[in-house]
Amino acid sequence: MSGTLYLCATPIGNLEDITLRVLRVLKEADLIACEDTRHSRVLLSHYDIHTPVTSYHQHNRVQKAGELIEKLASGLNIALITDAGTPIISDPGDVLVQRCYENGIRVTSVPGPCAGITALTLSGIDSGRFAFYGFLPVKGRERKDLLADLKSEKMPVELYEAPHKLKKTLADLYAVLGDRSIVILRELTKVHEERMKCSLSEAVSYYDTTEPKGEFVLIVEPAPEEEIRREEDSVFAEIPLITQLQEYMAAGMDKKSAMKQIAKERHMSRRDVYQAVLEAEAEE
Ligand code: SAM
Repeated sequence: MSGTLYLCATPIGNLEDITLRVLRVLKEADLIACEDTRHSRVLLSHYDIHTPVTSYHQHNRVQKAGELIEKLASGLNIALITDAGTPIISDPGDVLVQRCYENGIRVTSVPGPCAGITALTLSGIDSGRFAFYGFLPVKGRERKDLLADLKSEKMPVELYEAPHKLKKTLADLYAVLGDRSIVILRELTKVHEERMKCSLSEAVSYYDTTEPKGEFVLIVEPAPEEEIRREEDSVFAEIPLITQLQEYMAAGMDKKSAMKQIAKERHMSRRDVYQAVLEAEAEE
């Protein structure tokens, strides 16, 4: 019988934020795979856990997954932890989980802290729906494209950021998104836990004179509805409606569904779209 991979969430700052189940699983597992064994030893010795550890991180995640799969297949139970919070969430673990599923190995999650969720609960913003983007790509086209995507995001956008990159990220967000409202959550669950709500321009000025320290989660509020609508309308203003219809039909949509889609995207009634199509067809 093969063993089980346990995905265990660990504290994001306060050592008391750990569940009884995680502690039991860490004690009973045959092996603990840690992102950084030296870092995790602090937590493990605090709770008097002496299970053997091995490293599993971003750079050995593909090759090491094979080794861990062999151990799981031979019947060992392995607990996966990262430096802080929930594995997989902007952290290593996804390759290993996929390999487990491919090999018929049981995976279970032992939930607990996650900086993104903790930040959201503290933010004070309407967070019924939100878009989690994790870390922005560091530079180049990928970063530019992703920042452009954020502009049309209708939900609050949540980002992780390291202190040494915070100033640049705030400046880029301000340049691309304009002066939106942002909530900056710092050092969650730690002594210097802090929540700051301001505009992006205020955040840029603040961190011009204050060196960012600690760990950060950023939540940028969405653009006002009218701004999104104005932008979408300006894109469609450049494309004749009949051309859009032809493109959708060439892509395989039937005429009725294409007109319905166009009405939605252009904020028009279906009747007006139908009328505009009739007129354009009459002119052809
Ligand atoms: N897997 C983790 C989780 O569940 O939240 C996230 C790991 S990611 C590599 C680390 C990032 O999470 C940090 O750069 C920071 O953006 C955020 N983070 C982690 N702990 C935090 C804390 N105590 N306060 C604020 N942000 C934190």
